[in-house]
Amino acid sequence: MQIIKRPSPNFNERKNKAKIEMVVIHFTGMKSAEDALNKLTDKNDKNPVSCHYLIDEKGKIYQLVAEEKRAWHAGVSKWREFNDVNSASIGIELYNDGKSEFPDIQMQALEKLLQDVIKRNKIDKCNIVGHSDIAPHRKRDPGEKFNWNRLAELGLALKDEPQLKDRFNAAAIAEDEIALKKLFNEAGYRFSYSKNRFNNFKNKASMKEMIIAFQRRWQPEIFTRQSYKIGRADASTVKKLRSVIRASKKCK
Ligand SMILES: [Zn+2]
Repeated sequence: MQIIKRPSPNFNERKNKAKIEMVVIHFTGMKSAEDALNKLTDKNDKNPVSCHYLIDEKGKIYQLVAEEKRAWHAGVSKWREFNDVNSASIGIELYNDGKSEFPDIQMQALEKLLQDVIKRNKIDKCNIVGHSDIAPHRKRDPGEKFNWNRLAELGLALKDEPQLKDRFNAAAIAEDEIALKKLFNEAGYRFSYSKNRFNNFKNKASMKEMIIAFQRRWQPEIFTRQSYKIGRADASTVKKLRSVIRASKKCK
């Protein structure tokens, strides 16, 4: 695997010597990979950002920040017990304009990189997430076009474990906000974010934002075929949540 160095000055030390326990997947949402690389290495940007790796549309892998350092890609976010996601994670940006499919050659490069990163750092499958999973109130990347299923089939992301009993009472639970909230929490999603220096940001996700984030990852077909369901939980959402929770119970 060839990795091109493109060092970014935008990093600091992982806080409290945090271990690398997560991977966060993003799309750049910019016009070109070169534009994204310029932004991610610009220390004079008014909001300096970075990531550990960027993969362009041809499958070229760039490394911007050393894995042991803390890159700035997650922002105000939360996942399971992780409040400072940047300190606990590796950030991978995929060049994508936010609308297009991810080319096969780019996915293949991501798979190779993930295999290596996960193995070396012993990262649990539960903690391979998208930016929208950890910041549902403000992020939509890597988006509904990103093929999570493909990663799950290769053991590079969580694979849900459906059972017939997941259907039990599912339609009623979908209408019950408290019960639904509990399911999202069990699956690792967090509705509110700890107060920190980013206090000027909105730090709560609404139920609708949470449902959309979950659907992007676990029910992406809704976005092309059943757009009336976007942001609305129904029995299928509850069933999916239950099967995701079942799989995530096997995580650390
Ligand atoms: Zn992102």
